[in-house]
Amino acid sequence: GNAIEIEGLRKTYAGQKGAGPKEALKGIDLAIPQGSVFGLLGPNGAGKSTLINILAGLVVKTAGTVRIWGFDQDVNPRQSRAAIGVMPQELNLDPFFTPRAALEVQAGLYGVPKSQRRSDEILELVGLLDKAESYARTLSGGMRRRLLLAKALVHNPHILVLDEPTAGVDIELRQMLWENVRKLNQQGMTIILTTHYLEEAEEMCDEIAIINNGEKVAQDSTANLLGRI
Ligand code: ADP
Ligand code: ADP
Repeated sequence: GNAIEIEGLRKTYAGQKGAGPKEALKGIDLAIPQGSVFGLLGPNGAGKSTLINILAGLVVKTAGTVRIWGFDQDVNPRQSRAAIGVMPQELNLDPFFTPRAALEVQAGLYGVPKSQRRSDEILELVGLLDKAESYARTLSGGMRRRLLLAKALVHNPHILVLDEPTAGVDIELRQMLWENVRKLNQQGMTIILTTHYLEEAEEMCDEIAIINNGEKVAQDSTANLLGRI
């Protein structure tokens, strides 16, 4: 089956001062298979973040249908939200929260019962267990990024979405994030990541869709797609 099914997805942002409305997504059809590591590839401004933010429920679509784990986003917003975890691009963490506290708050937001919380396990996975009680403001950029990944995992989502997970990170952190992604995928999680690094898509993804100027211009297995370039 498919983890995500998108039909006719459109997003037009209202015009800013001095600029007209911006058509960021121009009618996208996209099916993402369960269990895959799926790459959304495309240049800056292509519409990747807009697509992901719609999946995450952070941006409201203009038109089209989005089904997440079989749940129509408009009909079953709560179930579709529960099925997905998102690691955002921005390092938007409260500086006075420790990783442990941040995960508790996140678990509360998602209504995870106390008995089902597994903060230690998640902190261990991302290599932050020894920093569990340190304020976020004292954490390095790499540690903050790993905390964002940990937060995306607290409600044990079927689907994990990573927005440019390795943009501007050093090789060591990139390898660690890739290892985490592989491990989660082996445990059955469907992974969707955006990137503008071809190398990253080739290394990580089973299947790729290329987005350009708000349109899907190709979708295929990584081997087929990159074999053609
Ligand atoms: P990226 O290309 O790395 O996804 P952008 O620089 O396009 O990032 O956008 C960064 C953030 O700024 C996005 O979250 C987006 O919502 C917002 N943004 C981008 N372009 C505009 C714009 N023209 N007007 C208002 N906000 C914008
Ligand atoms: P990508 O993630 O592929 O870089 P985005 O989805 O961030 O692309 O942006 C797609 C287009 O929509 C860009 O032209 C961007 O400037 C514009 N855009 C993004 N967010 C906003 C926003 N909040 N308001 C207006 N325009 C935006």
